[in-house]
Amino acid sequence: MIDVIIVPALSDNYIYILTDKESGVTACVDPCVSELVLKTLELNNLKLDFILNTHHHHDHVGGNLELKKKTNCKILGANIDRKRIPEIDITIKNGETFKLGSSIFKVHETPGHTIGHIIYHFFEDKILFCGDTLFSFGCGRIFEGTQEQMLESLKLIKSFPNETLVYCGHEYTESNLEFAISLTPNDQVLSSKLREIKKLRNRGNPSVPSKLEIEKKINPFFKVNDKKFKEDTGLIGEELENFKKIRKMKDEF
Ligand SMILES: [Zn+2]
Repeated sequence: MIDVIIVPALSDNYIYILTDKESGVTACVDPCVSELVLKTLELNNLKLDFILNTHHHHDHVGGNLELKKKTNCKILGANIDRKRIPEIDITIKNGETFKLGSSIFKVHETPGHTIGHIIYHFFEDKILFCGDTLFSFGCGRIFEGTQEQMLESLKLIKSFPNETLVYCGHEYTESNLEFAISLTPNDQVLSSKLREIKKLRNRGNPSVPSKLEIEKKINPFFKVNDKKFKEDTGLIGEELENFKKIRKMKDEF
């Protein structure tokens, strides 16, 4: 079992600090900065053993160097990105499993946002760290991969169990819901979710994690092949065609 500490950083990034309850082994997902992580570790009496990077963007690896210097931790990242992830120690390929103490996780390649993007799935705990592939009620922009790749990456995540808790890389939930509402304005589940999230955010709380069950129900990027969604939006194309259309609409939203 792992414990997760959510550390909001920069304007809308999330860093996650995970501890295996049994052994105390600790990892940090996507440290964009180092100071905040060091402070959180100290406050919670933790020692950093690993950094898990989802992709090479600076707002996910910016703290690597300093954290490694100060804690002597080992850095994990995608083999494809071994030249772009600072100070990488352990390179990972698709489908490999690792242990954080007694907690096991599997790594999946999810190209689209970047070519080398990976996600960390603690399948026994039903916890997913998905970086900038899936966001709460949205998905990442496509910078390096193809639209097909991004769609396939999202379909992989959609195949995980409903109870999965999704920890994504950014706090974009409100604007994602506003976009989803613009597509299907009569969807009451979307509007009540937005009210709930606004309350959370007004109190200064993060909107993460999200549950995969509700993502499957209302995340438009999961619904591009859904009959009712197609009827409601008038997007009558095939799933890839619909995906491309709404990704472009969101880019311009
Ligand atoms: Zn990114």
